Amino acid sequence: ALESGPDAIRERVETADGRPVEVAANVGGEAELAPAAERGADGIGLFRTEFLFVDREAAPTEEEQFEAVTAALSAFPDDRVVVRTLDVGGDKPVPYLDLPDEPNPFLGRRGIRLSLDEHADLFETQLRALLRAAATDHGDGLAVMFPLVTRVEEVERAVATVESVAADLADEGVAHAVPELGAMVETPAAAFLADALAERLDFLSVGTNDLAQYVMAADRGNDAVADHHDPLHPAVLRALDRATAAVEGTDAWVGMCGEMAGDPALTELLVGLGFDELSMSAVTVPEVKRRVREVDADAARSLAADAVACETRAEVLDVLGLDEREA
Ligand code: PEP
Ligand code: MG
Repeated sequence: ALESGPDAIRERVETADGRPVEVAANVGGEAELAPAAERGADGIGLFRTEFLFVDREAAPTEEEQFEAVTAALSAFPDDRVVVRTLDVGGDKPVPYLDLPDEPNPFLGRRGIRLSLDEHADLFETQLRALLRAAATDHGDGLAVMFPLVTRVEEVERAVATVESVAADLADEGVAHAVPELGAMVETPAAAFLADALAERLDFLSVGTNDLAQYVMAADRGNDAVADHHDPLHPAVLRALDRATAAVEGTDAWVGMCGEMAGDPALTELLVGLGFDELSMSAVTVPEVKRRVREVDADAARSLAADAVACETRAEVLDVLGLDEREA
């Protein structure tokens, strides 16, 4: 049984009919690395680098960032570690960055927008640390993704910045490598353009916390609209379906790192939609692994198609065999 010991827990999982699914952990700081490994995560699907930037007087140095990333790579020496570049703004203020005071911060300068414009300097420093980490012992497991993408041009500019940072490091004679690069699909724009993003990148990772917020026009932190912020709404499911369809027939892979990925009641649906990787808070890793092993991939695909065809949340719950309390 999965619970029979650390080795069993660490095993990678596949569906009953043999489709591998990676079950990774979301991590918001170095202290969470060891617990994630203990829970049997197949690597890190989302390393939120914000923790390096908040609650301090100045931005972390290249060296500090390099240390944090190599610590994550060492904690998962045989696995992939997906590091997200700085995702501040919106609900995530950082005093020394002098972020704009905006009437609608969730619709303002956040995520990759800040990295490409106001804070290109921070972005370059972070990329230097990441490219150097990619050349260390366990560095071939490193993957880097960009948050809150809405435009193809943002990806092109981010990739061009990676290339120019690589050229600088080469000029300086500093060891480096270019990791796998990906985009978060957490806006409707990214979901509609997922095929164009997948053409330019190695992977996509769906952030359902923001995606549900933007698809449903419901602030993720506002309790008054909590039931509108609904990842099981058919409109959100159709956005997920677009993201997974976008990588079909390409070399890119697609994961999910929003809260939805960690709900074991939804594992069959998510496998059926075509996710190659699910990344979640470490506590749910063992249960989601157990669920993956029970899934029949063909049945899951048909379940997902039925769910995507629904028009209301109630119909989706019915297809999934869930009642309102379980969902
Ligand atoms: C998301 O939006 O789903 C996500 C994983 O990113 P964060 O929760 O950090 O915004
Ligand atoms: Mg997000």
